[in-house]
Amino acid sequence: MSNRITELFNIKYPIVQAGMVWCSGWRLASAVSNAGGLGIIGAGSMYPAVLRQHIQKCKQATDRPFAVNVPLLYPEVQEIMEIITEEKVSIVFTSAGNPATWTEYLKRNGIIVVHVIANSKFALKAEASGADAIVAEGFEAGGHNGREETTTMCLVPMICARVKIPVIAAGGIGSGRAMLAAMALGADAVQIGSAFAVAEESSAHPDFKHRIISAGEGDTKLRMKKLVPVRLLKNEFADAVAQAEAQGADAEVLVRLLGRARAKLGMFEGDMEQGELEIGQVSAMLKQVRPAEEILNEIWKEFLIEKERVSGLSFK
Ligand code: NDP
Ligand code: NDP
Repeated sequence: MSNRITELFNIKYPIVQAGMVWCSGWRLASAVSNAGGLGIIGAGSMYPAVLRQHIQKCKQATDRPFAVNVPLLYPEVQEIMEIITEEKVSIVFTSAGNPATWTEYLKRNGIIVVHVIANSKFALKAEASGADAIVAEGFEAGGHNGREETTTMCLVPMICARVKIPVIAAGGIGSGRAMLAAMALGADAVQIGSAFAVAEESSAHPDFKHRIISAGEGDTKLRMKKLVPVRLLKNEFADAVAQAEAQGADAEVLVRLLGRARAKLGMFEGDMEQGELEIGQVSAMLKQVRPAEEILNEIWKEFLIEKERVSGLSFK
């Protein structure tokens, strides 16, 4: 199978691994790229020197294409972009910011640009700024989330109807069935986060991976809506946020409650109660820690089986 996305990125399968803070270092990105998908290094948790190290290690570990995700709200974006061009990274996913700011610079340097959006307004803005594709990320997704709370089921067809560039669906996709559904909604590919956060090669703390595969329905909630909405796994910190929010906490109170480096504390250092545990709703369906290649192959195999099943349906 080849389509606009496999051709754009020069990859085998239309499966993109999400850039995830504290989870997607060079080990995960290179494992996904070697398996035929597109691996992404998540620069959001990396100081510039660490990012350079991860890009260099990724180039050593794979000769396939890989990308870097840059959340535009992070500090030192300028330095990060310079490193990306110096290291000749060929694909960049930008998120959490205005696509007009960096797309032209990246395109001038011959880099393929994909921007992550959660509503039509930003999809149109990304297309107008010259992005080559967009990721449409719905409400089910882990971590930072859109304010509109539009689910993937509603967001993807809405965006596909409004833009001409390829659309990569994200949020709630962790199986071949979900992938097929996203393609039926009009997506050209899928971006998968949570299912790869629990890969053996993910740099997340082992206790965080274990907590994810033990999670059940309703264990993640969208919190911090008055600051930046973020989907979190239930723990003491998330409960404290919920309590503060029930009492009407404003952005200032939430910033104080959040403090600094809570995502690192939970996801990387393994504090399962006081850390901030960012993961998607699909965690309720994840049951084991496995190599990334196995995860990708299973998703692709199920996608093909389900595609056959659905195309064979007949109604009289
Ligand atoms: P890696 O080669 O996997 O990582 C190299 C460096 O990148 C490490 O400094 C490591 O931090 C850091 N790092 C790994 N994954 C990430 C990530 N997803 N986001 C941000 N930084 C990451 O591991 P090594 O065993 O060779 O460790 C070398 C160093 O890499 C370590 O100092 C490690 O801290 C750091 N590292 C940082 C990560 C990070 O997210 N910041 C992820 C993985 C490793 P650390 O030393 O704290 O493990
Ligand atoms: P924090 O701002 O709490 O802390 C920064 C973390 O990123 C630290 O763990 C730090 O590592 C690491 N880091 C990696 N590269 C850099 C860099 N270049 N400069 C500074 N720190 C770096 O991080 P969060 O990840 O929680 O938040 C990221 C941004 O998003 C912040 O601006 C925050 O205000 C904003 N935000 C976050 C929300 C959330 O729910 N997390 C909600 C709303 C806004 P180290 O500890 O090793 O120094």
